[in-house]
Amino acid sequence: NTRVLTGITTSGTPHLGNYAGAIRPAINASREDNVDAFFFLADYHALIKCDDPMRVARSRLEIAATWLAAGLDTSRVTFYRQSDIPEIPELSWILTCLTPKGLMNRAHAYKASVDQNVAKNVEPDDGVNMGLFSYPILMAADILMFNANKVPVGRDQIQHLEMARDIAQRFNHQYGAGRDYFTLPEVHIEEEVATLPGLDGRKMSKSYNNTIPLFEGCSKLLKAAIARIQTDSRLPGEPKDPDESHLFTIYRAFAGQEEVAAFRQQLLDGMGWGDAKQALGELLENTLAPMRERYNELMSKPDRIEEILQEGAKKARREATPFINEIRQAVGLRNAV
Ligand code: ATP
Repeated sequence: NTRVLTGITTSGTPHLGNYAGAIRPAINASREDNVDAFFFLADYHALIKCDDPMRVARSRLEIAATWLAAGLDTSRVTFYRQSDIPEIPELSWILTCLTPKGLMNRAHAYKASVDQNVAKNVEPDDGVNMGLFSYPILMAADILMFNANKVPVGRDQIQHLEMARDIAQRFNHQYGAGRDYFTLPEVHIEEEVATLPGLDGRKMSKSYNNTIPLFEGCSKLLKAAIARIQTDSRLPGEPKDPDESHLFTIYRAFAGQEEVAAFRQQLLDGMGWGDAKQALGELLENTLAPMRERYNELMSKPDRIEEILQEGAKKARREATPFINEIRQAVGLRNAV
């Protein structure tokens, strides 16, 4: 069986990008035969970027409710919260001790922060915590803990996944004595899944505060967010370039082929941005409204969500607990039995 693993950081309200780029393709994949899916709330990862406890707590509920409202079937999928699995940070530490610092120096997420600091003329490591520096190792632990062999990621994560492979190989080589403890994960880029731009044109991201929330609020708030998507200054009647338009990129992620082709033509024919926003608003409302209803229902039952997460953690630990014991033995922390 193929093992698919995906996590979402609990650092804010889930947005259209999380849904189209991660949740929807993951749920579709989990419905296929011969697939074991592991989906998790990456709450340790959230602490790297978010020091607001209320936000982390709220986000945990919102992201759990989003997965469930989007159609996750917990009887097929192992659905858990990272911090319910103590074996993950333990594995992360063990892997930390065999990861060269130089590898982490090259990690994109860290380098991006350093580059920003250099551009601002401040100390390169200003505001960089050790979590950010070594987060590819925690990510490697997330993946290797469950021997996932298929990890769907956005393009920004390809390098981190390669690092997970590198770390797995180092472990197998150093401690394996002929046994491959860890499966080497493969990157899986969903070619048809675009990175959705946010309101300001950068990648839509919880940490940039440029998102269109998926379910939070009502249809009116959704429309208000859509109204804020950046467009160019071309007037109604002037042809628009769909391939340069953030609005079109978002539309394309939610519409069927024919609708997309028709919308593209309308933009080329000079549809005004106001009408284009209205069309996007209707498309999203029709797609999201039924899920939003389930979402609101779930959000009113946090205890039920907690119960589901506890069941998921039990299921995940049935694998993680014996496996971490083998890893402890491999590195000499326990005697082989
Ligand atoms: P953060 O800012 O906390 O990193 P994020 O909103 O960028 O949050 P993550 O929680 O890191 O998202 O990512 C969860 C999943 O959602 C990943 O698989 C990621 O590739 C996907 N994803 C995030 N943003 C987008 C986007 N704008 N377009 C498509 N997919 C996205």
